[in-house]
Amino acid sequence: MQSKLFFYGGAGSVTGSNFMLEVQNPDASVGARFLIDCGLFQGEHALQKNNWDQWSFDPTTITALINTHAHIDHIGRIPKLVKDGYRGPIISTKATRALAEPMLLDALELNERDAKRHNVAPLYTKDDIAQALKQWEGIEYHEPKTFGDVIFEFYNAGHILGSALAKFTRKDGGQARSIVFSGDLGGGNSPLLPLAEVPEGAQYLLIESVYGDRKRDDTNRREALENSIEDAVARGGTLLIPAFSTERTQDLLFEIKSLMQEKRIPSIPVYLDSPLAEQITAAFEKHPEYFKDEIKERALNGEHIFAFPELHFVSSVEESAKLHTTPNPKIILAGSGMSNGGRVIDHEKHVLQDAKSTLLIVGYQAAGSLGRKLVEGAKQVEIYDIHSHTAQKIEVRAHVQVLYGYSAHMDGEQLLEYVNKMSDTNKLEEVFVVMGEIASSSFLAQRIRDYLGVKATTPEVGESVTIAF
Ligand SMILES: [Zn+2]
Repeated sequence: MQSKLFFYGGAGSVTGSNFMLEVQNPDASVGARFLIDCGLFQGEHALQKNNWDQWSFDPTTITALINTHAHIDHIGRIPKLVKDGYRGPIISTKATRALAEPMLLDALELNERDAKRHNVAPLYTKDDIAQALKQWEGIEYHEPKTFGDVIFEFYNAGHILGSALAKFTRKDGGQARSIVFSGDLGGGNSPLLPLAEVPEGAQYLLIESVYGDRKRDDTNRREALENSIEDAVARGGTLLIPAFSTERTQDLLFEIKSLMQEKRIPSIPVYLDSPLAEQITAAFEKHPEYFKDEIKERALNGEHIFAFPELHFVSSVEESAKLHTTPNPKIILAGSGMSNGGRVIDHEKHVLQDAKSTLLIVGYQAAGSLGRKLVEGAKQVEIYDIHSHTAQKIEVRAHVQVLYGYSAHMDGEQLLEYVNKMSDTNKLEEVFVVMGEIASSSFLAQRIRDYLGVKATTPEVGESVTIAF
């Protein structure tokens, strides 16, 4: 029994997750074709250009599209796939489906802007998103789906609300063979989500490696957040957090609310300046069944998990502009998380030049993004102004602090330990290390080989391998 695995995106880079499992029939003809994720390439311009490329396969021949979670680098090209003729099922957890609509509509706005800038047609339209949602089915974790002789099942990945690992199983004679696609894996840092599950008995694993070469100390993250807020208050400045709309924003709102309720930080205004994050927060409130038990219980007892008196939602662009002149100290959370677009850009123009203020970076920053330059200590940055279409030079005088403790990803140690757990039954035959920058993926693959004695490779984009599945 043989199948083929194609690495169309998310190999040699973090973003653009897109894999295909092509199941072969006993007579070697092609059986089912599963697409796993259909994400947008993000970050450097050269990489982003790939989004406009033709598919390396015929979209009309796909049996089912399985989606691990609602981040745009995992769902962002789904409407394009639909536009190009895909009419089969799109399957994710219910929460992923709920988050997908606001995420895709927001991505479309950014895409239309990018397309104008580079003089190309946008990747897709609102109608394509609507069509995709018609084909989109939300299911539960551990709810099996059968396609011919292949059974498919989601496991909780603990990364963002509704995130999942996808496990495919096929019987070979009496023996089951399985392959697991990790999606992104959470390292247990969310105050809201349960830990990632470990599916057992798989022969093959595709694993993410965003932080494959890094070790984080997350133990004092709450104190670090508290200190950051207190410092900004003491200086009388603004604490600006470029926030990822999904999960990170809700994690931080929850932590800030708790710190204020416990009187560990002063009661100062908190502005959530992201209509997308506001919608996503509302979707979180509607799906408390995905929270860890203690939070689920609070939500089911009627508590609005993300509401507190100091929190203000900023809807209009005018209100957003007014925040520059509202008195300090204050906290502003604004998108996007990598400072490569969105309202955070306008705030950064003001905050970065103010020595009293702090820019707090809380997540992965893709190579080439403004956020990455700031993490690397740039003293002067260029910020592109979408109104005047010019780049403006900004001196960085603000305190730039980095707090990875709220990362939604496992670090290198956790990833290795995760593979170790999966290889406990001695069934794991090969690990494909993907969704990381090359240095990071290679480092993790090396450690899997050295420490666990399991075959581990780092496939390149466009590569395919034959597997016994
Ligand atoms: Zn993700």
